[in-house]
Amino acid sequence: MQNKDPRLSVCSTCPRHCRLNEGATGFCRARRAEGGRVVAANYGKITSIALDPIEKKPIAFFHPGENVLSVGSFGCNLRCPFCQNDSISQCGADSARYQSATPAELADLALRVRRERGNIGLAYTYNEPLVGWEFVRDCAKEVRARGMLNVLVSNGCAEASVVEELAPLIDAANIDLKGPSQEYYDWVGGDFAAVCRTVRALHSAGCHVEATTLVVPGRNDSDGDIDAIAERIESVSPDIPLHVTRFFPRYQMAAAAPTSVATVRHLADVARRRLSRVLVGNC
Ligand code: SF4
Repeated sequence: MQNKDPRLSVCSTCPRHCRLNEGATGFCRARRAEGGRVVAANYGKITSIALDPIEKKPIAFFHPGENVLSVGSFGCNLRCPFCQNDSISQCGADSARYQSATPAELADLALRVRRERGNIGLAYTYNEPLVGWEFVRDCAKEVRARGMLNVLVSNGCAEASVVEELAPLIDAANIDLKGPSQEYYDWVGGDFAAVCRTVRALHSAGCHVEATTLVVPGRNDSDGDIDAIAERIESVSPDIPLHVTRFFPRYQMAAAAPTSVATVRHLADVARRRLSRVLVGNC
């Protein structure tokens, strides 16, 4: 994007294209204008780390039954009212509690955990990893150099250049396809076309891709909603697994009722008309 005001730095990581004064932080709270460019303010700042079963990502058809060391930082470029990780996704460097680690240190830790407890590599998850994509890239290279695997869990709302740079380094990904339209993404503050493009780009690059749709009552719980989501995925490949998951009250929707199990199971059947592998989650 052309920057007409030389005092502003423009971020090209996601479709928001934040225009920032020197020292200012972007909408995601993870990137900051520094020295005339926008850098990742959350680089190497780890808020969460855990050894998770890969099924918890959720990823069902890539190294099933194995663990992956999962790390997160802070910040997110979306504002989902139902966020399940708002304590890290909706804060910045001023309020997040983090410890610092270099990519090499994390990759060494992943290797140590593999020897001691079993671990296939590193998963970039919990907050939105792509708002700090440079750290994902640098970690992924270190992980690859140690013969391990990289897993991305993301909202997928990023510019094509970011996804293209990361795709060759990512072995498996779960991308949220949160809703069926830009209208839905207007509600959560994202870009539907960018997310669809990310799914396609990762799949084209040979990455194992799965998708997740959280069914939110009254928002994306009609047969037509799920059929439209399944159609999008089918247009990339009908064999991409889709996780249809149940909403529980959280964050700004703490007073809402959870999605019924019957609804989730029914919508999974709707998706199965187009897709070969549909799973239910949180049921
Ligand atoms: S990644 Fe963050 S700073 Fe960059 S455009 Fe998106 S919201 Fe703005």
